[in-house]
Parts: sequence; C-alpha cells; structure tokens
Amino acid sequence: MQETLALVTGAAGGIGEAVTRLLAEQGTTVAAVDRDAERLAETAALLRKEGLAVTEFAADVTSSSAVERLVEEVETRLGPVHQLVNAAGVLRLGPAHTLTDEDWTATLSVNATGVFHMSRAVVARMIRRRAGAVVTVASNAAGTARAEMAAYAASKAAATAFTKCLGLEVASYGIRCNVVAPGSTDTPMLRGMHTAETAAQASVAGRPDQYRVGIPLGKVALPEDVARAVAFLLSDDAGHITMHELTVDGGATLG
Ligand code: NAD
Repeated sequence: MQETLALVTGAAGGIGEAVTRLLAEQGTTVAAVDRDAERLAETAALLRKEGLAVTEFAADVTSSSAVERLVEEVETRLGPVHQLVNAAGVLRLGPAHTLTDEDWTATLSVNATGVFHMSRAVVARMIRRRAGAVVTVASNAAGTARAEMAAYAASKAAATAFTKCLGLEVASYGIRCNVVAPGSTDTPMLRGMHTAETAAQASVAGRPDQYRVGIPLGKVALPEDVARAVAFLLSDDAGHITMHELTVDGGATLG
C-alpha cells in the first residue's frame, strides 16, 4: 500500500511541529515546511532521530512561485501529497487605527494569501488524483471580536472562508477541506505576547497559564490538543466531514 504523505507548513512552530510529530507517529510521511530554515532543520533532525519520517523543505508561503517550486520538489522527491496542513502564521497586535500598512500586508500575506498559494498548488494536483484532505489552522479570533487583533482576525476569517469555498468546489473529487480554529495555545506565538505593552495587550499578557481567564475548561491548549483535531480531520474517521470549522479553545467562544 502507498504511504500517506502530508505537507505541513509552519512546521518549525509550536502547532506545526506538534502536527508533524503526531502525523509521523501515526505512520504518515511528512514534508515539513517553514520559512525559518534553521529552526526547521533542527526540528526535522530531532524528529528523524526518533525514527520519524520527516523531511524538511524551507520555503516562504507568501511567494506563489516559491510555493509552486516547493510542491513540485516535494512530489518529485517524496511522491504525491495526500494531505495538506496550513499552519504557518504570524500575529501582529495593535489597535486597528495604529496598524501600519506593513503590519496589515505582512499579516494577510502569510495567514490568508499563504493559505491560498499552498492550497491552490496542492489541490490542483489532488484533483488529478481525485483524493486528498486539507486542514487550515485558522483561529477562534476569526469569528469573535478581540481588541488589537483586527488584522489577525481579518486574515483568519479570510483563510476560513477560502478553505470552506475550496471544500465546496472540490468535494465532487473526493477532496475534503476543513478548518481547525484554536484558541490560546501554548506556543512561541502566544509566548511572544508577553512583551505586550499596551493596555489591551496587558490584559492578556503574562505567563501562558494566565491566558486561561475566560476559558471554561480552565487551561490554555497545548499544541498537541490542536494537533489531534487536525489529525482527526485529515483521517478517514472524518471521511464524511468537509467545510467544517472545528473550534479547539476550551469553550472560550462556544456555548
Ligand atoms: P508559531 O509562531 O510557533 O509558529 C508559526 C510558524 O509559521 C513559525 O515557525 C514561522 O516561522 C512560520 N511562518 C511564518 N511565516 C511563514 C511564511 N511566510 N512561510 C512559511 N512559514 C512561515 O505559532 P503557532 O502558535 O504554532 O501558530 C500556528 C498556527 O496556529 C498559526 O497559523 C496561528 O495563527 C494559529 N493559531 C495560534 C494560536 C495560539 O494561541 N498559539 C491561536 C489560534 C491560532
């Protein structure tokens, strides 16, 4: 039987690494992608040392030509991509009226356009094979107003809507496209908020365990909590689920 190959972006980050590890532990071969070549190489080497089938490919998802080259190279070296996980992301905080053009563009170009580039390149190939699964890691911020998160929330709402529309278009080819919407998750991105200086940021700044305020389950997510939801939506157990948004936020925005 042909081995399953997953391409995971943001694989040098907290959630992307957890997804890469879990999928590889389940027997999937993983093409791990990130623009931070150094950290990606360290992460992949560590996972390979544990006997996991992980190969790193440094690439920037904001460049459509780089993404085309990347997917071509991955398929040439490892074979057809069966699963795509869009986990690369950036967070720029600040009141909407003070965001710079660069804040806005940097956020949208990774979190929304990057998802478009990757999904277009991979899904075009999946359509020819009439099979595949895509999971985009968006955010619960896409559907709930949060101070100082306007650019981020807009980018995640775009990624969510794009992934659902894509899912409708490719359903007849047997390709499923779903969204995982995490809440606060203990990763470098969340820890980066410690340096917050403005009032609204200070209200959520602090140690990761302090983010649990407002989370009914009483704790921030671990990257593994999000990874399990991603792995489920990629798996045959979710074979009749598409265009779904699965929120993983301890109930923070639910109920
Ligand atoms: P992280 O900062 O640990 O990881 C993000 C990774 O994306 C980094 O390794 C970074 O190098 C990579 N990346 C950024 N821009 C890229 C680009 N242009 N091309 C390729 N790689 C790029 O953050 P994380 O918390 O693991 O976030 C993973 C995803 O989960 C992101 O999309 C994030 O928005 C989302 N998310 C995170 C949280 C949270 O609280 N941590 C909550 C909701 C959603």
